Amino acid sequence: MKITILGSGTSHGVPMIGCNCEVCTSANPKNHRMRPSIAVEGPGGTILIDTTPELRLQSIKTGLNHVDAVLITHTHADHIFGMDDLRRFNDLGGHDIPVYGSPEVLEDIQRIYRYVFVQTQVGGGKPRLQLRVAENIMEICGLNISCFTVLHGKLEVQSYRFEDPTTGKSFAYVTDVSIIPETVKHFLNNLDLLILDAVRYEPHPTHFGLYQALDVIANARPAAALLTHLSHHFDHDRLCQETPPHVEPAFDGQIIDLLSVPASVPCEITNLLSSS
Ligand SMILES: [Zn+2]
Ligand SMILES: [Zn+2]
Ligand SMILES: [Zn+2]
Repeated sequence: MKITILGSGTSHGVPMIGCNCEVCTSANPKNHRMRPSIAVEGPGGTILIDTTPELRLQSIKTGLNHVDAVLITHTHADHIFGMDDLRRFNDLGGHDIPVYGSPEVLEDIQRIYRYVFVQTQVGGGKPRLQLRVAENIMEICGLNISCFTVLHGKLEVQSYRFEDPTTGKSFAYVTDVSIIPETVKHFLNNLDLLILDAVRYEPHPTHFGLYQALDVIANARPAAALLTHLSHHFDHDRLCQETPPHVEPAFDGQIIDLLSVPASVPCEITNLLSSS
């Protein structure tokens, strides 16, 4: 199971329009953050989580040229406004692309992307999508996936846990979250990797602040954790110094190959995460 961080930034992206702060003007490429998304390569294909407004740029930057399925967390603009770019993956793969989400998410997608689902002229082409309700347990691209719901302020957001039955490796992607209900906390047990929302140092009404995220990580005890949905309040190198050794900020273009990890042995993140 190979995970590519397509974007690690908050909804504004970093640099943020019109901001001259130290991070927004930083020369460190790890401080340049597109909107949050990952690609997961399983034994049977590649799954995208969310389709950000920068999906085209993210795909070109990371060489992503194949998408077999899409999982949606929720329908805020930073997570779905690149869905039209799936047209290219329709053409490259020669097939429709299933898009999974909650019933509410699928309803939003049909309203926001109305031209895709009604009979109109095709013009430059429309994405060919098959909307499917995300079930609690699914098998997609050879991976066992659990879908569970967390809270983003009052909004329900879908999170996803992946298990690779061929390697026994597991990870979870939990973004846009301010509350993880007790009833779903077990989905974070025994993970090789947890990718978790941390938008800034201070608490936030609809996201985890850094210390809330670190608390969740301390309780769930994944072998390693990456922080995502990062704002310009975080300088990459400084944040690396401030977090425990097995917790790091994600960065755009980062590749994590869970195959290279020894089974269930907690270890330093530098051994666990092969970065590029
Ligand atoms: Zn977001
Ligand atoms: Zn800034
Ligand atoms: Zn959101």
